[in-house]
Amino acid sequence: MTTATATDERTFLDTLRAFVGQEATPVRHAQEPVNRPMIRHFVEAMGDENPVYLDEAAAVATGREGIVAPPPMLSTWLMVGYRAHLAARSGDAPDTPMARLLNLLAEAGFTGVVATDDEQIYHRELRPGDQLSMTTVISDISPRKRTALGPGHFITTRRTYRDQHGQVVAEQRFRILRFNPQHAPAPAVGAPGRAPDPARPVTGADPAERPKPFVTRDNELWFAAARQRRLVIQTCSDCGRLRHPPSPVCPHCRSFNWHEVPASGRGTVHSYVISHHPKAPGFDYPLPIVLVDLAEGTRLVADFAGDPAGLRIGMPVEIEWLAYDDELTLPRFRAVGEDA
Ligand code: ZN
Repeated sequence: MTTATATDERTFLDTLRAFVGQEATPVRHAQEPVNRPMIRHFVEAMGDENPVYLDEAAAVATGREGIVAPPPMLSTWLMVGYRAHLAARSGDAPDTPMARLLNLLAEAGFTGVVATDDEQIYHRELRPGDQLSMTTVISDISPRKRTALGPGHFITTRRTYRDQHGQVVAEQRFRILRFNPQHAPAPAVGAPGRAPDPARPVTGADPAERPKPFVTRDNELWFAAARQRRLVIQTCSDCGRLRHPPSPVCPHCRSFNWHEVPASGRGTVHSYVISHHPKAPGFDYPLPIVLVDLAEGTRLVADFAGDPAGLRIGMPVEIEWLAYDDELTLPRFRAVGEDA
């Protein structure tokens, strides 16, 4: 695809976008109703000890009619199973709009696949006996994007889950990246026309080229503070424990109430890696990344601004900020007392 002209690229995108709005696959019906044995396997595997999933009395005590399925099990009820998986691998998969779309992409070199995000909305808890079905609509196909894995298209599907009465019980937005692994980025070189980051004059990699983090309503508090060059830590308003990365529920007391507290930006290196490969655009290599024990108690992963050879576990570090664009400012660490 590197030799394709802009016109070819647009024509290809038009071909892909003809799939937007189509049902990706026929309605899928769960092979089994929601049931306790599958719930038990799931919570054991996940280490989830919330009693409302297995203990009828405990579930009733919370005001429920009985045990419920963990919400993250949603997609497991609709999995196609081993036989359908084998059929797909041997080329016997049914001819569906999604299969045709993926074939088109594969023929154009976009053979790699990675799931990039998954948002789920639950309208009610699922109970044993619920018989689910799912419809899937192709809702968006992105223009060709440059990514750390190679150029590719993001494909978004919207899945709607219904119960045996036709009531919508959950919705899901699921996005994958189909990428061309043959054209993964070469080692980063400077992009013309953009000012280099003055704080790190080592080489020409342009931080504006970096893949952006996924900001959701659950973690935007942290990124919003970072835009103002403030490091904050999410704190449970009920039990007072700190947590990072941000999440909607306290893992200690299950409270949904939280507030943020300011952090000093000082800490010590708990561990680090010096990455050499794969080389993503916008980074200088070798790329030092540190896991820092913040003075307040949580840990934070960030770039290390300085000579990787000087890194050692336990060294004191302090934060500095780097603005990538109007939307994104991220911290990085440097050795205490060293100017960036
Ligand atoms: Zn708590």
